[in-house]
Amino acid sequence: MSAALDLTEAERVRILAKTARFNPPTAALADGRRDLVGLDRAELIAELAAIGEPAFRAKQLWHWIYHQGTTDFSTMSSIARPLQEKLAERFVIGRPEAAIVQTSTDATRKFLFRFRDGQEAETVYIPDPVQERGAVCISSQVGCTLSCRFCHTGTQTLVRNLGAAEIVGQFMAARDSYGEWPSPRGETPRLLSTIVLMGMGEPLYNYENVAKAMKIVMDGEGIALSRRRITLSTSGVVPMMDRAGEELGVNLAVSLHAVRDDLRDEIVPLNRKYPLRELIAACKRYPAASNARRITFEYVMLKDLNDSEADAHELIRLIAGIPAKVNLIPFNPWPGSPYETSTGQKIDRFAKIVMDAGFSSPVRTPRGRDILAACGQLRTEGVRK
Ligand code: SAH
Ligand code: SF4
Repeated sequence: MSAALDLTEAERVRILAKTARFNPPTAALADGRRDLVGLDRAELIAELAAIGEPAFRAKQLWHWIYHQGTTDFSTMSSIARPLQEKLAERFVIGRPEAAIVQTSTDATRKFLFRFRDGQEAETVYIPDPVQERGAVCISSQVGCTLSCRFCHTGTQTLVRNLGAAEIVGQFMAARDSYGEWPSPRGETPRLLSTIVLMGMGEPLYNYENVAKAMKIVMDGEGIALSRRRITLSTSGVVPMMDRAGEELGVNLAVSLHAVRDDLRDEIVPLNRKYPLRELIAACKRYPAASNARRITFEYVMLKDLNDSEADAHELIRLIAGIPAKVNLIPFNPWPGSPYETSTGQKIDRFAKIVMDAGFSSPVRTPRGRDILAACGQLRTEGVRK
């Protein structure tokens, strides 16, 4: 047991070292000022200490930055003018630049954000058609290393990880676009009230930055999103799943897509490293899962490939005993994609088998397909330097 855990820890260290090489350039701007967004509390305190300011200033700034959504020091009324000016000389409260914003006929809105080095990533706001709220789908990387066969992002090689500031910044800039500041306290509802880490990239191959960003959005004195309002989707980076569960406690979504190793090896190549048996074991021990907080298995419906009744029965057998629901995602095509979407009849049949076994199995209505904003359609023209 402990030997196995040591191995997992060694694997985690290896993954963290390898993925850190893709981290973004430093936070300083061309003029030498530093971006305060994306710093954790300790780093913010240290930045202020370096200019002779006491720790309570960090608390004030945190409130302005993450609760009020302020980007302009001169509007911070609890801070005296001379200090406002001193801060503005040294720091900025940055946002990624919204290079393109498109709104779908179904009200889904896609942002192409451009970061300071010119790299870009997409973010999608998906309003709930029934309730007055919605989810912000955030990217964690520019491109992806994993090349899942059905995924548009997977056709773009990994350019780099997004930094914590860029990850939080996507959410903050999306909120700017809807005028959604200050952050709600208690009852005040907000449209942008959940985060799904389901955009471009594999969040568990950029764990440090994703974790830092999520801790910032969960901080009770700022944006204050509960961990229950955040879902991290992974294609199955098994050693990092435990760590995310312990440290962040967010909801987990697992991109399953196939129930046999031979097929999953082909369409989710990461399966060759972490096969189904290990993936399912990691789901069974995921610390933040319970009957109240089920693991979501995502299953893209690919015509005549993974959509048979036998597949559905195998799926139930595989996830038996896990507090789970299954999201059936009709395949979203993209230019040049090699697959077709399963027929409605096949999807319904599959859904019924899974539901009859006691798992909720909603068929996800594609959102924002007209602007290539649906699951798996995101891609940018990343340039490798
Ligand atoms: N890298 C992470 C998160 C991003 S993808 C992961 O793979 O989980 C978000 C979801 O969209 C994943 O379940 C992914 O498998 C799915 N997806 C990818 N391409 C798709 C497509 N063309 N149609 C439907 N879903 C797709
Ligand atoms: Fe990467 Fe997820 Fe797309 Fe696979 S499905 S290529 S892991 S973004």
